[in-house]
Amino acid sequence: MQEKNIILTGDRPTGRLHLGHYVGSLRNRVKMQNEGNFEKMYVMIADSQALTDNFENPEKIRENLIEVALDYLSVGLDPEKVTIFVQSQVEELTELTFYFLNLVTLSRLERNPTVKTEIKQKNFETSLPAGFLIYPVSQAADILLFDANVIPVGVDQEPMIEQTREIVRSFNNIYGEIFTEPQAVLPENKVARRLPGIDGAAKMSKTLGNGIYLADDAATVKKKVMSMYTDPDHINIDDPGKVEGNIVFTYLDVFSNQEHFEKYLPDYNNLDELKDHYKRGGLGDVKVKKFLIKVLEEELEPIRERRAYYEKNLDQVLEILEKGTDNAKKVGRAKVYEVKKAMGIDYFADNRFLDEIKEKYK
Ligand code: ATP
Ligand code: MG
Repeated sequence: MQEKNIILTGDRPTGRLHLGHYVGSLRNRVKMQNEGNFEKMYVMIADSQALTDNFENPEKIRENLIEVALDYLSVGLDPEKVTIFVQSQVEELTELTFYFLNLVTLSRLERNPTVKTEIKQKNFETSLPAGFLIYPVSQAADILLFDANVIPVGVDQEPMIEQTREIVRSFNNIYGEIFTEPQAVLPENKVARRLPGIDGAAKMSKTLGNGIYLADDAATVKKKVMSMYTDPDHINIDDPGKVEGNIVFTYLDVFSNQEHFEKYLPDYNNLDELKDHYKRGGLGDVKVKKFLIKVLEEELEPIRERRAYYEKNLDQVLEILEKGTDNAKKVGRAKVYEVKKAMGIDYFADNRFLDEIKEKYK
């Protein structure tokens, strides 16, 4: 990555963050933060976007604002290196969204595959809130207000980045080159791009309630793993088992490494050997699940510890959010000024405009 990169990502405060967020995006953000090859890095709590499908329940968003902030700090995002801010408090985002809406057609919005799926999930087919349909446009504003070009996200966000790129091309064409096309950065591990839920049915999602949360205690993690879907035909230990579609193995694909085997399952050299044994028969689900619990705990325990610290120091968390938001507003104001200038609607600061009207009515 080059020196000049500006990174932006966000999460909707619709619940606590889970392992899907962690492997899909958070882990990448922390890695990028620590590598330090960027000019600026922003992390946004997308409360305005969350309201587009939770407008009747603002209390839920209010409650989860702090939960998401706590999750950010507990995975190791460092406010000294990263600007953490609250979307609704940066009014310039709304302003930019409004101008961008002119550059997008209704039929284009209706073609977005992620939005299509969500409309079905939320039973919005017969009465679709306009704000929900246009949220990808507000996401374009989130990215472009900060001139972000690198966006570490899960695969469900690819259509949003594509939509943003189209908006950049339209805007630059009509008003002049002031935006850059952003790139999505997906996790290297394919499964991590869309981690399934513990039910194995869909992607892990706050809304679907099929997640292991970063804030879950050890007993809850254990219970959830023990209840996980495996291979329904693997009834007796000696039966041959399937690893494809077996969520326990899917999770091991994402989370386990060589060291875990040395430490917790020295009878096997690596995941392939464990899978082979399972496929042959003679390896029980409980043994594999117990291993997964140990693997997950190694990742989750330090996150829990940091969370406990920040839960006891909430003032610090609020101060981080306020400072980050102020910082984002400053950057946003300057960019909106630039946008209005490009669009020719910065009337009172535009001498050419003032001279022209004076000339006209002389
Ligand atoms: P909601 O159900 O409210 O939409 P969500 O669980 O989908 O919540 P978001 O806040 O919409 O979470 O997503 C935030 C980020 O996390 C996005 O970059 C998204 O791609 C990523 N992400 C969410 N769920 C997963 C998952 N299961 N696997 C990989 N990445 C994910
Ligand atoms: Mg989502």
